[in-house]
Amino acid sequence: MSLHAVRPKILGFISEDVSAWLVALLVLLAGGILTGLLAWATLNLFHHQLRQRFQLLASERYSRIEERFEDQEQRLDGLRRFFANSESVSRAEFDGYTQPLLHRTQAYSFAQRVTREERPAFEREVRAQGLSDFSIRELNPAGALQLAAERDEYVVVLYSQTQSRLGSPLGYDLLAQPLRRATLERADQGRMAVSQPMHLVNVEPTYARGVLLVAPVIRRQSSELATDKPFGYVMAVISMRQLLADGLPEAGRDYLTVRILDLSTSDQHEVLFESTNPPAASELSASRLLRLADHDYQVDIQPSEAFLQANHSSVSSLVVLGGLLSLLLSALLYVLVSQRQRALKMVEQRTEELRAREQELRGTHGQLRGVLNAATQVAIIATDLRGVISTFNAGAEHMLGYSAADVVGRMTLENLHFPRELVARSAELSARYGKLIPTCQAMLVEGGEEGGHEAREWTLVRQDGSHLTVNMLATPVLDEQGLWVGHLAICIDITERKRVHEALAARDLLLKKLSAHVPGGIYQFKMEFDGRFSVIYASDGIRDIYELEPEVLLLNAEAIFTRIHPQDSTRVRASIRASADTLSPWREEYRVQLPVGGLRWVRGEATPEELPGGGVLWHGYISDISDLKRVEEELRALSVTDSLTGIHNRRYFQERLTMEMARVERGGGELSVIMLDIDHFKRINDQHGHAVGDRVLQAVCERIGHRLRRTDVFCRLGGEEFMVLCPDISGEHAHVLALQLWQALRSSPIEGVGTVTASFGIASWQVGEGADALLLRADSGVYAAKQAGRDRVEVQPH
Ligand code: GH3
Ligand code: MG
Ligand code: MG
Repeated sequence: MSLHAVRPKILGFISEDVSAWLVALLVLLAGGILTGLLAWATLNLFHHQLRQRFQLLASERYSRIEERFEDQEQRLDGLRRFFANSESVSRAEFDGYTQPLLHRTQAYSFAQRVTREERPAFEREVRAQGLSDFSIRELNPAGALQLAAERDEYVVVLYSQTQSRLGSPLGYDLLAQPLRRATLERADQGRMAVSQPMHLVNVEPTYARGVLLVAPVIRRQSSELATDKPFGYVMAVISMRQLLADGLPEAGRDYLTVRILDLSTSDQHEVLFESTNPPAASELSASRLLRLADHDYQVDIQPSEAFLQANHSSVSSLVVLGGLLSLLLSALLYVLVSQRQRALKMVEQRTEELRAREQELRGTHGQLRGVLNAATQVAIIATDLRGVISTFNAGAEHMLGYSAADVVGRMTLENLHFPRELVARSAELSARYGKLIPTCQAMLVEGGEEGGHEAREWTLVRQDGSHLTVNMLATPVLDEQGLWVGHLAICIDITERKRVHEALAARDLLLKKLSAHVPGGIYQFKMEFDGRFSVIYASDGIRDIYELEPEVLLLNAEAIFTRIHPQDSTRVRASIRASADTLSPWREEYRVQLPVGGLRWVRGEATPEELPGGGVLWHGYISDISDLKRVEEELRALSVTDSLTGIHNRRYFQERLTMEMARVERGGGELSVIMLDIDHFKRINDQHGHAVGDRVLQAVCERIGHRLRRTDVFCRLGGEEFMVLCPDISGEHAHVLALQLWQALRSSPIEGVGTVTASFGIASWQVGEGADALLLRADSGVYAAKQAGRDRVEVQPH
């Protein structure tokens, strides 16, 4: 499987090689463009909505103005009808009717047409009604009211209901003023007429600029039918400011600015009303002509600042938000892409490691499989925790007769055991631990005192039912976390080994029995190539030889040398080495010093054999020869002892002389001999008999022997001739000794015989002298003493 196929597909469209910065930049750019488009669309929508809203507001405002215009017309028309349908309307009736109508209207008035002729009577009549200073008046050029000049007719304000605190301009002649007059003339045609904007009389300066709405009052039933002129006029004094501004929101809160233009003045259109709040700088505007009576007014509406503030565009916040979002998104993408790149790199690295490890594992697994199959002499059986077999190698197949397919996943390790043995082991373990150990665990549990995992002997049952004995080592199998996941049993067939072992044991027993009946001990002794000794085998007889246990010897061969007499130890070692060097049979007699048995003589005999490793192995036999040695000693003593006198004989003298000569020749020193011959012994024999002669010989020996040192060797050379061998004694000292001996003999008579004397000759060894020459000189001394008369010590000639 390729590496790319398993890579995560998130952000997969972005190549891994592309820098995270570039991705972030592209996203930022795209975000910017998107934000721009969105802002453009939003702005368009906003403008569209703004226009719609404005138009809605404007048309609502137009309707309201139109409504107010109509309301003015209807109310005035109502007043007109009130007059038209009444015979006469009193001031009180007028006031009563118009009082509730004073709403958004400065004043309502009624003006009556009065001719020149009727003027005085009219004035009188009005004055009679209570207006004492009433007269028909007109405005002078200064703007003040004055008595009206004489004219054919007047239209005089008779009733007036006003909101103004300045009072009503009663008596004011409307015809005196051209604008009013023109308006009345238009009203004369029977319809409602509205004046050009004018300065209103007796109205607060704020509302002083306004129009007059005039309706003619025609009383058909009266006598004026003849004339075509109306009886009078009802008028509404309208201040456009009041009419429009009333009931509208405050200037600061009004969303619209309204301007009303009067189009009647041709040269310059007069602004009748303009909202106090200035129009905002906007392309939005509406303009419509609204009709009041017979007059059209242009009403211009524009949005105010408040409108724009209330409907401000959210584009800037959208741009900011979009920009921020783009920035965030690009930062996020940068982080994601760089993290992904890092993660991919890490995945690649890990995959590489895993692959290497997998390769390694595969190799190890192969090796393991190879080992498992190659181990044909060893059964390797793995089980899971329940004991079910999971691995059964070639060795196990060979050993137990099952094929792996027969047992893997089908049989447990317990199935392979000899049941009776398992039950017995289970019972033993249960007793030891004081709790029930099931058979399936019995084969795995180790005895606590045995410690660790040790192989144990088990009997297994082959497929054909035959038994075999194995050494089985069962160990737990742990996983990486150290959890117990199964068991591994390694079995070695020890049936043959056990048979050999038993045969060997039988032979050992035989050897033991045989050696028990043989005096002495049998042993195997080994010398390593480095010279160390060891005992391989020692029969029980060895115990009597060395007073050491055979087991001790097996552990420490040197213990033998602690028993060997110090004087013999070196010799024994040397002879062993010599035997090893020459591979010649070893035979040695030596003394041993035993704690109980004391000093004993033993004889060892062994045949060496060279070992392949360079050492030597001896098979041998050691026996106690103390009795033999004693007989030997006795025989030896007899052979060098004179039987009559009990002192040493000539043979012994010769041996000792040879030794002493060797000594002085080797290292110098002193050596003297004293020779003596009994005087006239023949006579003693002759006189007393041979037996007395024998007794004399014994007595002489006794007397001489008493005077000698332990180191002196006293011998009978034969007949009645004797020799004293004196090691380490000079000639002078030998002479002194000889004199003592001579004196001792002659001064002590022998019972029944009397004094017995002897002739003495002395010889001291001289450098370069041989034994024969030495003895000859001593003999010469004796001869000389005899010659000189016997019973004397002859001085050694120089
Ligand atoms: P001289 O003073 O010259 O030495 O005289 P002598 O008699 O001692 O000399 P001679 O050597 O001729 O005699 C030695 C005798 O000793 C001869 C022999 O019969 C006797 N004789 C040798 N051996 C024994 C012995 O074992 N027992 C006895 N009773 N006599 C012995
Ligand atoms: Mg003699
Ligand atoms: Mg003699």
